[in-house]
Amino acid sequence: MKIAVLTSGGDSAGMNAVVRSVVKIGILRGCETWIVREGYEGLVRGNTQDYVPYEAPLADPIAAKRARGGVKSTIFENLRFGDGDLLRDGTLDHPNGRSLKGRYIVRAGFDDVRGWFAEGGTLIGTARCKAFRTQEGRLAGAHNLIKEGIDALVVCGGDGSLTGADVFRAEWPTLIDTLLAQGLITQEQHAKHGHLRIVGLVGSIDNDMSMTDLTIGAPTALQRICEAIDNINSTAASHSRAFVLEVMGRHCGWLALLAGVSTGADFIFIPEQPPQANPWEDELCEEIKRHREIGKRKTIVIVAEGAHDANLQPIRAEYVKDVLSERLGLDTRVTTLGHTQRGGRPCAFDRILPTLQGEEAVKALLESTPDTPSYMIGVRENKITRVPLMEAVAMTKAVADAITAKDFAKAMSLRDPEFLQ
Ligand code: ADP
Repeated sequence: MKIAVLTSGGDSAGMNAVVRSVVKIGILRGCETWIVREGYEGLVRGNTQDYVPYEAPLADPIAAKRARGGVKSTIFENLRFGDGDLLRDGTLDHPNGRSLKGRYIVRAGFDDVRGWFAEGGTLIGTARCKAFRTQEGRLAGAHNLIKEGIDALVVCGGDGSLTGADVFRAEWPTLIDTLLAQGLITQEQHAKHGHLRIVGLVGSIDNDMSMTDLTIGAPTALQRICEAIDNINSTAASHSRAFVLEVMGRHCGWLALLAGVSTGADFIFIPEQPPQANPWEDELCEEIKRHREIGKRKTIVIVAEGAHDANLQPIRAEYVKDVLSERLGLDTRVTTLGHTQRGGRPCAFDRILPTLQGEEAVKALLESTPDTPSYMIGVRENKITRVPLMEAVAMTKAVADAITAKDFAKAMSLRDPEFLQ
């Protein structure tokens, strides 16, 4: 089996550990392993050039030394593309390897992914790809995979990316028929690639996927937010100030809720459970006033990115600040943590989880038949699980629908109840 792995959508800590795990475990299970750079964009673009061996200028002693064998790989000697520096510094031409210009689908060996679990973001690149939303784009993607003989795909991304993966798999028979009719693949290739094995891993800092307790990158993002709040707490207590923090999470309140509980916040706004009182300003002020009266010198209010009131009107940090300053006379500041929350170096759990899930992904691909659904690898009660990918995506969408329908109790129960209750 030839497995390709790609990362797609927003980056999250732990995506590199996914790639590392799939490559290493894939090889150990006797598969050939490939990387698709830049998410679905790379799949659609494919390889338009052959490898171009780099000829090191001998006048440059360092380059010459590296070209002579600064890197040794006993695995896939001829096809490897360097020691990872290529990807790490974004350089396409590297003295050690071969040019990656015009090549988005490349073979990877053990050495290419060594040490990747400690790296933040995704070294193989991620992108949002409009073309993959069209059948034409997916046709090009299918052709590019078949050209390299790849018959299995691991997609690590959020619900959008996993939806794309499911669409791709469902459409696969039509795609290969079209490629055959257009003379782009042979009868033999058509027969060999009748079934695309596909599996999804959830890489998202928001922990916004149903049917799994945690998404890859969420624990690291939560850790970063808690660290930031701990820092702010010092100033807040010293000056007896109030701070309103806006945290990421899109339509999901997990980051805001758990960060609030972990740091002893005074009030938390999350999309799944808007403030009971309408208007909510009185409820907020009474609660904060009560905390101040029992001797708290500082006030921390956390506003999730997607927070809104019971009428679905967005709640903004700046407005909350005005309410606290004007009604309670508190010296209030707003802090938006922004992209520092996306992670950086993964915490230990964001190395372990992708490593275990990568193994399960390879196993699911090896066991995949035309009759089995595409699976999403999740984690439930500390066990790595497989669930039908589309069921998880549909359930995730149902939460958003419940919120839009103002059925907040339903949204809450559809979200991972163990965590939110
Ligand atoms: P995330 O995976 O983080 O939720 P997006 O929603 O932006 O991020 O999705 C990432 C990519 O997945 C998109 O740019 C697109 O290429 C692909 N994608 C998303 N939804 C679909 C779909 N319905 N059909 C095909 N491709 C899709």
